[in-house]
Amino acid sequence: MGKVLSVAEAVNALLDGQILGLPTETVYGLGADATNESAVAQVFKAKNRPRFDPLIVHVPTLAAVRDIAELSEAAEQLFLAFSPGPLTVVLPKKNTIPDLVTSGHSTVAVRIPAHPVMLEVLHSSGLYIAAPSANPFGFASPTTAQHVLDQLGNLISGVVDGGPCSVGIESTIVDMSSGVPKVLRLGGMALEQLERVLGPIATQLSSSNPNAPGMLTSHYNPGIPVQLFENREALLAALQLVDADTIGILYWGETITHGTGFNLSERRSDTEAATNLFKGLRVLGNTQVAQIFAHLLPENGLGRAVNDRLQRAANK
Ligand code: AMP
Ligand code: MG
Repeated sequence: MGKVLSVAEAVNALLDGQILGLPTETVYGLGADATNESAVAQVFKAKNRPRFDPLIVHVPTLAAVRDIAELSEAAEQLFLAFSPGPLTVVLPKKNTIPDLVTSGHSTVAVRIPAHPVMLEVLHSSGLYIAAPSANPFGFASPTTAQHVLDQLGNLISGVVDGGPCSVGIESTIVDMSSGVPKVLRLGGMALEQLERVLGPIATQLSSSNPNAPGMLTSHYNPGIPVQLFENREALLAALQLVDADTIGILYWGETITHGTGFNLSERRSDTEAATNLFKGLRVLGNTQVAQIFAHLLPENGLGRAVNDRLQRAANK
């Protein structure tokens, strides 16, 4: 229980119907054989995840996408442009994937991840791996193997340590199951990049709508209240009015010296801020501060996805 596994051990455990932590470039996943209903049921149970919140299925190749989903011409173009990578595509599902994985929907969310260790597990097991983020439901997603062991260690067979996640936030989800592409979740693939292939694209980020059941408005809970500010200046002004020693500050740019700070990116890079976001929420959540002050990033590139996570973390 709760140990670090080699790739060979992980493959055997997955083939045996066990569940375990796996590295991807976005966040660590809690993986199970997607075709094994009892393994998938264990994933929902370990995470305390409601059964109405479907799982993403990870596959190694475009051929494998075709095994589990109906691939339209436009969806194929998306995979060719951006996979492997932090992009999940929702497609009409085939019967190879049990209804439990997709929460009874007629669609399945599919991703070809870019992490070499995850690809090795996929290739050498020959499995399709259902994997939500490896955190208890409602909490920050894990970006290191240790985060997985800290939160789920005694509920899983172990974790494969693939190092810290390079992207650091979950995949962008695009629904290609109907004629009109829709972004259901902002994530590690910037909207601007998708639009270069798809043209202007609608977003339908939902709280509890059936198209993205997992997108609950409250999520990524660091254990203490999070107060959000429009920008760094507004945060600094608010800090003047309180006892700064009781505040954890999540920010970017030049170092802020009062209070307990976590700098997401000194050089104000949206990709670096995304990589560090969940670590920052965890680090500040584990200090003695009573609450976290965080400021939003400019709404472009991965700044949009970071802001989305901050807003959900700030919601009660
Ligand atoms: P997680 O892997 O924990 O980041 O969550 C995966 C998310 O993918 C879910 O919360 C859903 O919002 C989304 N998802 C998975 N399957 C589908 C689907 N068939 N249709 C729409 N969204 C999906
Ligand atoms: Mg999640």
